[in-house]
Amino acid sequence: MLAFGPVPSRRLGRSLGINNIPPKTCSYSCIYCQLGRTTQHIIKRKSFYKPAEIFREVKRKVNEAISRNEKIDYLTFVPDGEPTLDVNLGREISLLRQIGIPVAVLTNSSLIWREDVKEDLLKANLVSLKIDAATEALWRKINRPCKGLSLDRILDGIADFAEAFKGTLITETMLIDEIKYDDELRKIAVFLRELNGLEKAYVAIPTRPPAEKWVKPAKEETVNLAYQIFSEKLGTEKVEYLIGYEGNAFASTGKVKEDLLAITAVHPMRREAVKELLRKANAEWRVIEELLHKNLLVEVRYEGDLYYMRRLPSRTSGY
Ligand code: SF4
Repeated sequence: MLAFGPVPSRRLGRSLGINNIPPKTCSYSCIYCQLGRTTQHIIKRKSFYKPAEIFREVKRKVNEAISRNEKIDYLTFVPDGEPTLDVNLGREISLLRQIGIPVAVLTNSSLIWREDVKEDLLKANLVSLKIDAATEALWRKINRPCKGLSLDRILDGIADFAEAFKGTLITETMLIDEIKYDDELRKIAVFLRELNGLEKAYVAIPTRPPAEKWVKPAKEETVNLAYQIFSEKLGTEKVEYLIGYEGNAFASTGKVKEDLLAITAVHPMRREAVKELLRKANAEWRVIEELLHKNLLVEVRYEGDLYYMRRLPSRTSGY
């Protein structure tokens, strides 16, 4: 299937997915990949499908959505592998932009140092870059890159791309349990801080079955730690976490419980902020105790302060 959806996405609104890569053709073999281990581990760009064929399929899906009165916010390259391995990516983006809907690409960033890949990505309206590690050893452990790749070259390529890109730039950092992050989170945050025009840095956890059985999503404490460290360097408005609550259910409803759950699904709330929200809604602290008791909220401590965040879905029974 060359095109699918549209599906709701927290980052992209309603997104029509484009699959321009055959299954598991990737320059990485991430330990958390929801598609399993990479079978075609390559870094050489190739032609997989005809750009006209992809355009036709996407146009058909767009027309179907229009006939159902469905909105599409982005046409998104989110294939079963790494989209920049497609040597026709730039041509496809140019064709698709004629439809009049913004085009997004979710890439693992591994080939961004190549001039042709950079030129292709510059044509998109939104680019999401994977940055799981800032040091070689952790990068090798988590992303398991194809031979011939170098993290330094990739990080330089990302910085160069950010300088030139005029569209919306976001990043995603996946956090895994039992990984010793030590100073890594700070190093990633420092790198992100220097990126020109970065709109949002997402901290994510794997929410679907991973390639390696031992891989578990990071615990709430680690997600909160990453959020706090990233926020210190980038500002709170630039950091959110993605912990499996996708969709558009994040608008304020005026109902205090729902609002609390919606806000804490995106970022942790400091105890004082929670108290303030309750005060404005004329509600009592009992509401929080109930949400904690029902295992919907969790209390985490960071540098002496208490924070409240959504219980990670995979750790909540009944989800
Ligand atoms: S980069 Fe994406 S597709 Fe490739 S192995 Fe990692 S998670 Fe899977």
